[in-house]
Amino acid sequence: MHVIVIGAGAVGISIAANLAEHGTQVTVLERGSIGAGTTATSYAWVNSNGKEPQAYFALNAAGVKAHHDLAPGGSSWFVPGGHLEVAADEAHARHLTTRIQRMHERGYPVQELTPEETHQLLPDLQLPPGTLQVAFFPEEGHVFPQLYLGAMLTRARAAGVRIHTQTPVTALETAPTGALVHTADGQHLEADAIVMAAGRWTQDLAAAAGTQIPLARFSHPGDVTVGYLATTSPVPVCLDRLLTTPRLNVRPDGGGRLLLQALDLDVTADPDQVPAPDSALAEEFLHRLREVLPSTDGAQIERLVVGQRVMPADGLTIVGPSTEHPWLYLVATHSGITLAPFLGQAVAQEVLGGHEPLFDDFRPNRFLERATITAPPVPRRPGEQ
Ligand SMILES: Cc1cc2nc3c(=O)[nH]c(=O)nc-3n(C[C@H](O)[C@H](O)[C@H](O)COP(=O)(O)OP(=O)(O)OC[C@H]3O[C@@H](n4cnc5c(N)ncnc54)[C@H](O)[C@@H]3O)c2cc1C
Repeated sequence: MHVIVIGAGAVGISIAANLAEHGTQVTVLERGSIGAGTTATSYAWVNSNGKEPQAYFALNAAGVKAHHDLAPGGSSWFVPGGHLEVAADEAHARHLTTRIQRMHERGYPVQELTPEETHQLLPDLQLPPGTLQVAFFPEEGHVFPQLYLGAMLTRARAAGVRIHTQTPVTALETAPTGALVHTADGQHLEADAIVMAAGRWTQDLAAAAGTQIPLARFSHPGDVTVGYLATTSPVPVCLDRLLTTPRLNVRPDGGGRLLLQALDLDVTADPDQVPAPDSALAEEFLHRLREVLPSTDGAQIERLVVGQRVMPADGLTIVGPSTEHPWLYLVATHSGITLAPFLGQAVAQEVLGGHEPLFDDFRPNRFLERATITAPPVPRRPGEQ
């Protein structure tokens, strides 16, 4: 069996590696370079914290577990240091209390911390004035996406996967034995099955094959598809886990650097107009960082980007065969870093004839069956992504 995987992001490479390890002949076609899509600009927090509805929570919880199973105790690419969330106003504290209760009911580990316990976990943290509540989610962690890709690529290559970069797929069609894939450089490749893991380009590529996959598209600054990520220079700070505070999300980014996210600042995010690393916006990130981690005084912003989410029209993962073509399997998801190892295993099994019950609520045909699609909310509350 020959499977073509379109897209060499975290999702596509994970699926390719798993398929090949099951003895499948796999070719990956990538229009640019490996990992240069949304995977290159991700906060990469591994979690199922506050994911709704229940089926989406269960899918993401399987994603968290798959990271721990793949890298027990952590690895070069996975830091299972947990996640600490600080609430300092009534609305956030109420929301956090409700979430903690729901997480308890679902068996998702979380504990409330005293100021002393908080200090033990994060000695450099200066709690914001008026702090009401601190919660710790010990099973969560963060990923270094490029190192994750490196690990998956090693497995993929060892299992015989062929990867063609700078090879955009332009069209797909039914062929006598399955499918025919056309590329911009004039190749026509036959396959028994196609896995489309083309991220935010999925809608256009699927449409070229006659399949409607609705994704949210960037329409104006600050919409649901875009968000800033700022990377600092190396700083002498003791931080080995994710930290969510009212005005800033912070996580280590390797080599002493920190990765910053401030959801309220995303209202101006525009991929066509990215502020410079010495802009007023960058200074605002640094100001907020010093408020919670004073030892970062002297930090600079080295990189400021606008990430573009892979956002299905209802905010939920799309995974499963196309309604129109039995040879076409589609995967598109926000939360793609949390889900990549699980999707890698479970999509490979489904392409080879298995059935993953956790995917049942996320099939592509749901868009045909529903009269209205509820658009996902723009992430603005602390702890969203
Ligand atoms: C600001 C921000 C914060 C985020 N935070 C988190 C988080 O905390 N936790 C989390 O789990 N997720 C998070 N995400 C989401 C996560 O990063 C993505 O879901 C994930 O990276 C998607 O991976 P992918 O492989 O599906 O897509 P991509 O990485 O975009 O890969 C798709 C690939 O397909 C290729 N491609 C497209 N069209 C073609 C074609 N015609 N021919 C050949 N190749 C093609 C592209 O070039 C690309 O390399 C965040 C995203 C953003 C933007």
